[in-house]
Amino acid sequence: MGHRLVAQGVPSRIYAAGRVCAAPGCATRLSIYNPLAYCALHGALRSRASAVAVSAKRTPRPSHDG
Ligand SMILES: [Zn+2]
Repeated sequence: MGHRLVAQGVPSRIYAAGRVCAAPGCATRLSIYNPLAYCALHGALRSRASAVAVSAKRTPRPSHDG
C-alpha cells in the first residue's frame, strides 16, 4: 500500500481578481473564488427569476368551455 491519495477531487479554482458584479448599477467586487459574473445577491436573484420564468412558461392556458 502506498500513500493515500488526497480525497479532494475538486481543485480550488481561482478566477480573475478585481471583477465587478455584471448587474447594472452594482459595484460589488466579486471574489476570486466566485465562478459567477454576479455578486451573491444578484446571482441569487437571477437564479430565482430564471426559475420563475420557466415555471410561468408551463402555466396551462385557461380554456373557455361552454
Ligand atoms: Zn450585484
